[in-house]
Amino acid sequence: MSNFSYIFDILKSENISGGVLKDEPMSLHTSFKTGGPADVFVSPADENELKKVIEILKKENAPAFVIGNGTNLLVKDNGIRGVVVHIGKGFSYINTKNEEITAGAGCLMSEIAQNALDNSLTGFEFASGIPGSFGGGMFMNAGAYDGEMKNVLKAAKVLDRNTLEIFEISAEELDLGYRKSSVEAKGYIVLEGTIKLGKGDYDKIKDKMNDLNSQRREKQPLTFPSAGSTFKRPEGYFAGKLISDSGLKGFSVGGAQVSEKHAGFVINKGNATTADILSVIKHCQETVFDNYGVMLETEVRILGE
Ligand SMILES: Cc1cc2nc3c(=O)[nH]c(=O)nc-3n(C[C@H](O)[C@H](O)[C@H](O)COP(=O)(O)OP(=O)(O)OC[C@H]3O[C@@H](n4cnc5c(N)ncnc54)[C@H](O)[C@@H]3O)c2cc1C
Repeated sequence: MSNFSYIFDILKSENISGGVLKDEPMSLHTSFKTGGPADVFVSPADENELKKVIEILKKENAPAFVIGNGTNLLVKDNGIRGVVVHIGKGFSYINTKNEEITAGAGCLMSEIAQNALDNSLTGFEFASGIPGSFGGGMFMNAGAYDGEMKNVLKAAKVLDRNTLEIFEISAEELDLGYRKSSVEAKGYIVLEGTIKLGKGDYDKIKDKMNDLNSQRREKQPLTFPSAGSTFKRPEGYFAGKLISDSGLKGFSVGGAQVSEKHAGFVINKGNATTADILSVIKHCQETVFDNYGVMLETEVRILGE
């Protein structure tokens, strides 16, 4: 694919204020800490600027890859030919009214959980330890323990990449399912969301968040870079158990390893390349398939070349 670095000059000449970078290493923007350079990396300052960026990219026929906090992404070592559009700081406001929180897609799930706690609102405790952005949470229908976005999301505001219109939709229109939504198929970029919570007791909410987060620290390899659970849960099984029962705990290629602590996580032990991580993923898929006839599907989204 051709290189789109020239888009850098176009975006600069259009005075995009939110930050435009050229040949930006994606290892700096992914929780796996791997991945080659994106031709251009832009962080629009607000929704109008985002709209302008997408308009330019459409005119130039340049591919646009939207990312949030990069905690569910695996970017290949040769990077991304095209433009990464980062939904971050420009979309990080939070407004709370009664039992509803409306927040920009660039907020972290943990920030929204903290806001819910500060307002004694219950229903978002599950999300306090999920390291992604709110936009990524809506895209993935992120969930943990007894909760998922689908249970609390009421509405969203999106930019339609095809028509460049910005409008509100109900949560139902995102068709949230197990770690999936219709955001990509519909060509949306999520700008904002509104969750509906319930009145709760501050101490109970706090205790629940602390409890869930200590369970995470106990069971998950949080001291190593990863993207959380590498695989989706296959129906009727647990990916981690299938991998560990296949004797793959600790299996490694280069700097990538099936975590000894939780076999559902592939981790970067230090100097892993994305190729190493992909080799570990492939080996787990093949071995588990040979042993149990179950094909593990990645939850992690793979981008680039
Ligand atoms: C240690 C660790 C623990 C984790 N635990 C959990 C967990 O318990 N439960 C869980 O569900 N996940 C978990 N994850 C995975 C990850 O945090 C979630 O999938 C999260 O929702 C991803 O959000 P993000 O902002 O990082 O998205 P990214 O990784 O940046 O992107 C993920 C996908 O969402 C799309 N996207 C992101 N933002 C937008 C937007 N504004 N508009 C349109 N598309 C967008 C991207 O195009 C991409 O396809 C964990 C990850 C780590 C590293």
